[in-house]
Amino acid sequence: MSTREPLSMSPEEFRHFGHRVVDWIADYRSRAPGLPIQSGMAPGDLLAALPTQPPEQPEGFAAVLADLDRLLMPAMSHWQHPGFFAWFPSNGDLASVLGDFLSTGLGVLGLSWQASPALTELEQCVVDWLRQMCGLPDAFRGCIQDTASTCTLLALVCARERTTGHGQTRSGMQHGGTPLVVYTSAEAHSSVEKAALLAGFGRDHVRKIGIDPARAMDPAALAQAMAEDVRAGRRPCAIVASTGTTSTTAMDPVAAIAPVAAHHGAWLHVDAAMAGSAMLLPECRALWHGIEAADSLVLNPHKWLGAAFDCSVQFVRDEQHLVQVMSTNPSYLRTAVDGEVKNYRDWGIALGRRFRALKLWSLIRTHGVERLRERLRRDLANARWFADQVAAHAPWRVLAPVVLQTVCIRHEPPGLDAAALDRHTMAWLGRLHRTGRAWLTPSQLDGRWMVRVSIGALLTEREHLERLWDDLRAAVASDGTAG
Ligand code: PLP
Repeated sequence: MSTREPLSMSPEEFRHFGHRVVDWIADYRSRAPGLPIQSGMAPGDLLAALPTQPPEQPEGFAAVLADLDRLLMPAMSHWQHPGFFAWFPSNGDLASVLGDFLSTGLGVLGLSWQASPALTELEQCVVDWLRQMCGLPDAFRGCIQDTASTCTLLALVCARERTTGHGQTRSGMQHGGTPLVVYTSAEAHSSVEKAALLAGFGRDHVRKIGIDPARAMDPAALAQAMAEDVRAGRRPCAIVASTGTTSTTAMDPVAAIAPVAAHHGAWLHVDAAMAGSAMLLPECRALWHGIEAADSLVLNPHKWLGAAFDCSVQFVRDEQHLVQVMSTNPSYLRTAVDGEVKNYRDWGIALGRRFRALKLWSLIRTHGVERLRERLRRDLANARWFADQVAAHAPWRVLAPVVLQTVCIRHEPPGLDAAALDRHTMAWLGRLHRTGRAWLTPSQLDGRWMVRVSIGALLTEREHLERLWDDLRAAVASDGTAG
């Protein structure tokens, strides 16, 4: 038997500290509602407190836990806090966190089906559960990726390859010919433009189509832009429709966009990163009417649904095309069963695949679909209640239709010009943030600042909206302006 010091953490030591870590997280989630929601640290404060050199000798895990409390916690902002109304929720339901522990504890990589059959087949199973939960047609096949940004990039690469008959795969940047164009709305998430750049379309070939009064893509403007490109010798290649834009959750009309895409043979990708979760509710499905015509779509269970980050689900209608585009198949990865199984490395960029399906499996099984729906409905009702309060109290205004759980607001006292109104918005938001009770993110709408109230953190109940509404009015009142 070896007498030297252990070279890795033993299962017994892991058991000891693992229990402490679980206790720590459980305590954290219980006390999070009482913590100041945003860290008050200045840039560089934490870095200055951290050792610049790694320890040469063992410090032990107890030291890590001690520094978690002493150093890291003051530098944490709390996304699981019930006052989290920023960006979109990133709900890590504790059931899903346990699934994530299991995934990490098992420590397997899905390089191929054979690398761990459970990883692939559970992913096939839960992704298909999700497809059914959202009312998507049988034809869609999917897998789990890290983020929506990756899924949109994959969609645009697939689009490019379909349009060029795999010309870019063969010749890459050397493939000359007609410029290919991508269309999206002026309200699309920045990941669409980034994906277009990474897929080689070039910024000059990304068209930001105008929006209608509901802030959704205008299909007539889309058709016109595509026709103009064709006349100018360019080739429409892909449309990225957003069902649930980031600023206001506006829904691009998929059913009206799909025939325009079909007319030009363009790929239709739907970014449902946030609003995809809403499709668990049959009463919301009209919002993405026409979705069956999409070539690909992405939704992020790691946002509202409660799967611990990262868990982004990509669906495609033509699985073979995706695999043909992404497959490399070197000899060291080939197995005797490749013809019978899914090798998800051929569905995306990374070779190594985490066992993310465990997060979704744990979430869905622990709660059941009906309880997940109940929570989403709670958040939709809270958003409607909150919007009603704001709309009933001029000079507060609700600035965009409340489609789902996001309410876009502004306090508009009379007599302020545009620049003064912007300053007023940022000032009351700053005062609200200094209470430490709520966190909201501003965004520009038609060039002017407004504030998004994005409802849907796991712990956010009506009482938190009531308190937010009081705090908002107090924040503007302390400016000397009537709330
Ligand atoms: N698409 C939309 C509509 C989003 O709101 C976001 C992020 O909030 C993204 C894409 C990017 O998501 P991810 O961080 O998963 O790349």
